[in-house]
Amino acid sequence: MATVEAPPQISTRDLQPFKNEPAVDFSRPENARNMKAALEKVRGELGREYDLVIGGKRSKTSDKIKSLNPAHPSQVVGIFQKAGKEHVEPAMEAAQKAFQAWSHTSWQERAEFVLKVAHTIRERKFEFSAWMVYEVGKNWAEADADTAETIDFAEFYAHEALRLATADAPVQLPGERDYLFYIPLGVGIVIPPWNFPGAIMAGMTLASIVSGNTVILKPSSDSPAIARFFVSILEECCLPPGVVNFCPGAGGSFGDALVAHPKTRYIAFTGSREVGLHINKVAAEQVPGQIWIKRTILEMGGKDAIIVEADADIDSAVEGVAVSAFGFSGQKCSACSRLILHEKIYDTFLDKLKARVEKITLGDPVDNPNMGPVVNEGSMKSILGYIEHGRKDGRLITGGERVAGKEGYFVQPTVIADLKPKSKLEQEEIFGPVLAVIKARDYDHALEIANDTEFGLTGAVYSGDDKKLERAIREFHVGNLYLNRKCTGAIVGAHPFGGFNMSGTDSKAGGPDYLLLFTQAKSVGKKL
Ligand code: NAD
Repeated sequence: MATVEAPPQISTRDLQPFKNEPAVDFSRPENARNMKAALEKVRGELGREYDLVIGGKRSKTSDKIKSLNPAHPSQVVGIFQKAGKEHVEPAMEAAQKAFQAWSHTSWQERAEFVLKVAHTIRERKFEFSAWMVYEVGKNWAEADADTAETIDFAEFYAHEALRLATADAPVQLPGERDYLFYIPLGVGIVIPPWNFPGAIMAGMTLASIVSGNTVILKPSSDSPAIARFFVSILEECCLPPGVVNFCPGAGGSFGDALVAHPKTRYIAFTGSREVGLHINKVAAEQVPGQIWIKRTILEMGGKDAIIVEADADIDSAVEGVAVSAFGFSGQKCSACSRLILHEKIYDTFLDKLKARVEKITLGDPVDNPNMGPVVNEGSMKSILGYIEHGRKDGRLITGGERVAGKEGYFVQPTVIADLKPKSKLEQEEIFGPVLAVIKARDYDHALEIANDTEFGLTGAVYSGDDKKLERAIREFHVGNLYLNRKCTGAIVGAHPFGGFNMSGTDSKAGGPDYLLLFTQAKSVGKKL
């Protein structure tokens, strides 16, 4: 770990109101220079080996996880130990031991710690972003947005912690002093996905610890390097050993065993519908030695739709759809994967969209193109399989191929039109740069198509008619609805994030209800 100056002590006494971290403007030469320097620094650190960290102690395993750069799979980003079932007990013991002291620290103390983490990440934000460029193929702006969201989560949850610290019983009975305290739950298992490897991983972890819980963090095997960098920042900020235990490992064996452990109090998971449902099932079963109902906080997949009405500002809708569908190669749970077009504008809209999509630049994210690779070979093959299916079920408008002559996992931005409601590409989450286009007879039909999947994460409507927009608020059943704007890019505090139906438990990360999921309320009535 590089030697850096110790982060400053931060007091919550003079805390300013929460403000979102601004995006870095890379058109400014000093910012572009900083990013290039960070990419160069991180490049020099690629390929190193990192230990498990359990109870502050470092250890190695015989099995390893190799994290590869999806733009150049021959380039190893980092080598990680692979925790197995034998590591579950030591990790749980370390987290339980740390819980004894950490759960009794004050909300203020924990908020100050999390603010210090936010400060340290802000100081090293280009480096934080650079790891994401190499490890998951984010371009500069996408990586920066992930870093900014990480800082926002930290600061927002610190503010929320201070709010919960002042909670009190809403009613005071005569002759009593009545209290309401929010107290921590216990040991949480944090299982993030690879696609927001900074913000979601850090957000679930920081919400856990600011609430007084301790954590076993099992990062995705596609993005352990970013999690390791984050954990090294927690260490620099002097987090007591065992509060966060860093344990990369296979989801199916190690992750499963963590979820099943009797001392696991809750699981904070973000990932696919299949894995989320499996975790829910395993967690529901009481095992010997378990004295609580495990809480599950599950954020899962999406099949998000943008509806464009004939009365919409078409150019603005084309831009919004292109950015929502192909930003970070469509690998966002919020990405637009269905475009529902009014029949009157169907052909003209598709012509404009094709022209816009064909301007998207594709390349090595280090060089900051519009779009980079998809995350790994398995994902690329699955996406290409969907495209083959789509060619038969619909009409290919643009894209449709793996990019020839590149070592990395590059898939062209692909638009497939004339797909029918209920068809495979219209229903299943693809998680890649593939947009399914469906024709709607009218607005009733468009809303019916939009709501007709098992998901309910994000959605958008473009229309010049306020009545239609108001109707979408009532009838478009998604956790995050956007009107006359793109359906990606949720901002902490402004757009608390989480979905309905099979998109998850609607946890609303970055919102005022989130920390309640990591706490339990204790009521005390004292006779005076
Ligand atoms: P995934 O479900 O394959 O993996 C997520 C995590 O679960 C990984 O850390 C993985 O190792 C772990 N895991 C796998 N099997 C497990 C098991 N049996 N027990 C315990 N842990 C296990 O998802 P992914 O490919 O990493 O991420 C993409 C998915 O995440 C997409 O479906 C996307 O929509 C979803 N996602 C949702 C949100 C949201 O807020 N709703 C945000 C980001 C991503």
